[in-house]
Amino acid sequence: MKKLLTIIGARPQFIKASVVSKAIAETDGLQEVIVHTGQHFDANMSDIFFDQLAIPRPHHQLDIHGGSHGDMTGRMLIEIEKVLLQERPDCVLVYGDTNSTLAGALAAAKLHIPVAHVEAGLRSFNMQMPEEVNRILTDRVSNILFCPTDAAVANLAKEGFPYAMASGQPQCIAQVGDVMQDSAQLFATRASAPEGVALRDGFVLATIHRAENTDHPQRLGAIVAALDAAAQSTPVVLPVHPRTRNILAQQHITPRHITLIEPVGYLEMLWLLQHCGLVVTDSGGVQKEAFFMGKACVTLRDQTEWVELLQVGANELVGADQEKILDAIERNLGRMVRDERALYGGGQAAGRVVAGVKEFLGE
Ligand code: UDP
Repeated sequence: MKKLLTIIGARPQFIKASVVSKAIAETDGLQEVIVHTGQHFDANMSDIFFDQLAIPRPHHQLDIHGGSHGDMTGRMLIEIEKVLLQERPDCVLVYGDTNSTLAGALAAAKLHIPVAHVEAGLRSFNMQMPEEVNRILTDRVSNILFCPTDAAVANLAKEGFPYAMASGQPQCIAQVGDVMQDSAQLFATRASAPEGVALRDGFVLATIHRAENTDHPQRLGAIVAALDAAAQSTPVVLPVHPRTRNILAQQHITPRHITLIEPVGYLEMLWLLQHCGLVVTDSGGVQKEAFFMGKACVTLRDQTEWVELLQVGANELVGADQEKILDAIERNLGRMVRDERALYGGGQAAGRVVAGVKEFLGE
């Protein structure tokens, strides 16, 4: 029996881990220990996902959140190392690009514990983004790189991967597809309308939480102004990330027509995605979920890691330009898109991740 230690801490990681943890539980020869760093801790940013998606309760709750990036990552590194020394896992599994991802990968690498990175190889080529720093450094110290797309594999090749690891063996690089498609498919039939909001199909679903928007009042102001203007003709629903809510208040940015709601659970989010007429977002995950649901997406960023969505015309980058956002909303509202080529693996990724880890560990 091999021990796999999973490190999660932020909302998208709970959603990704849900399907992989299920696949681990269904596989002989693997035991999973879950560590929750505490990066996201509000009930509607954390507990609700464990409940709705039946993720096993974490064995270790580190309760680390807040502070600057260095402060948070440093505290995680210290505490994760203690857990690794206690648990002595055969492999550490990390997801995506958060501070929890980097702290987990770094702590494991320094203890010579193999690291598996789910969502390896993604790049925005913008080193100002904390996520870009986290993903590049995590990839470098990972032994198994599970890439979601061909573009991610190509990014790694351009950067000289695979590197030789401590054992002298090259890193394993596998294109497995995107575990978020597995989650979207698995839970689609359980989607449920958020309580307390009356909505007719065809509304605009918006999310904003990236530092590149929230930390620049001018960008945030322009995005909110554009959504507010759009909301005068079509309802715009915005589940507000706690960070965004705080910054909107601090900056005295007050949307007047947008329907602001608390962050919703994943099943409610799936319902909103199924029933909206357009997605407007700066989220990584939500760009793809729009696509999985056949909806066009207007992306409030200057780059995206999900370049294939641009190539197939499903997604349009508009940055934080008020005019461009409004124009893109008008042109894309109600436009359906199709996944002709199963760009993200068609819902098979979690099984491939677990099979890849098993093979690597010789189980
Ligand atoms: N999500 C959710 N409730 C919300 C907003 C988002 O369940 O109120 C889900 C969304 O469907 C996606 C994930 O959270 O699966 C995306 O997380 P986020 O946008 O925070 O992070 P990113 O994908 O940008 O890393």
